[in-house]
Amino acid sequence: MKRLTLFFLAFVLMFMAGCQPKTTRYQAEFLGLFDTVTTVIGYAESKEEFTALAQKIQEQLTRYHRLFDIYNDYAGINNLKTINDHAGDVPVQVDQELIALLLFAREQYFVTGGAFNIALGPVLKVWHDYRTSGILDPLAAEVPPRQLLEEAARHTALEGMIIDEAAATVYLSEAGMRLDVGAVAKGYAVERVAQDLEAAGVSSLLLSVGGNIRAIGGKPDRKGIKPWKIGIKNPDPESPDPQLCNVLIVGESVVSSGSYERYYTVDGTRYHHIIDPKTLMPAAYFSNVTVICRDSGLADALSTALFNLPLAVGKGLVEGMDGVEALWVIESGEVIYSAGFGGYRAD
Ligand code: AMP
Ligand code: MG
Repeated sequence: MKRLTLFFLAFVLMFMAGCQPKTTRYQAEFLGLFDTVTTVIGYAESKEEFTALAQKIQEQLTRYHRLFDIYNDYAGINNLKTINDHAGDVPVQVDQELIALLLFAREQYFVTGGAFNIALGPVLKVWHDYRTSGILDPLAAEVPPRQLLEEAARHTALEGMIIDEAAATVYLSEAGMRLDVGAVAKGYAVERVAQDLEAAGVSSLLLSVGGNIRAIGGKPDRKGIKPWKIGIKNPDPESPDPQLCNVLIVGESVVSSGSYERYYTVDGTRYHHIIDPKTLMPAAYFSNVTVICRDSGLADALSTALFNLPLAVGKGLVEGMDGVEALWVIESGEVIYSAGFGGYRAD
């Protein structure tokens, strides 16, 4: 009897597998969001079905992109630029989704001991402007004068970001303040979109906004569900290996911060875009920090924070967090892994 039941169960499972609709792998790419390339990889029964889903994803990401933008105004919405434009002036009423991002960012500021600070905007603007000019005219490229950086740093206290949740307003208490969510916006937006898709029943998808990766489930395969294989970029352009290693994920995020992503050169020295709030200079500890955890917003904020923290401090932070793993590449090229990172390695 027992054997018969097992046989019957196996038969039902086989039948169900045979009834699974056949899906094909599709990929969509779009530009213009968060200043980078967005890639969606998914499995669907038809191209039309996948295209409709990719379009929905693009629309949602566009909405977040506009809300979190500090460079452009959009008709009919108050965004982060509106908040910055009214610093020291008046509270600005904004969408709850923008308030939620700012609250999340404030939490991460405290978690990381200030290594991740969205109020660092005035200092980041100085570096941004010098980098932009230095890339346009490399012979005239300069490092920002110390005095300019220190003057900007006087307006970077996060306490000056006053959020009234009930009124849905954000007020920057000083005229020189400026929020910059470049270190978290992509990951946060990807996480919101991924969670909406999961709630709508999507069970297998890979979303990447400029390498900020979030998987929904695994990928279907003839034999069942397999993990997604993600390559982690080697920060050394001279290395014959373009990737440091591959990791296998199911429903998790992989996010890297790297000194190779955005930089300019002055007298042969490279100056990258991740700024250590303690020195006001490009952080000098690592060339790549990669975080794996479920929440893509957390992975994004953490990878930037860890980039700005000495290894021992960062390792302590990661080890105190549940479900978070990281790797650090130090300037010599040596790679250091958190205790559980090996569980994700494919090679
Ligand atoms: P990511 O590539 O996620 O590490 O983010 C880098 C971006 O975050 C930069 O281009 C800046 O806009 C911003 N940023 C740089 N340094 C910091 C910092 N210490 N805290 C918060 N944001 C930062
Ligand atoms: Mg980041």
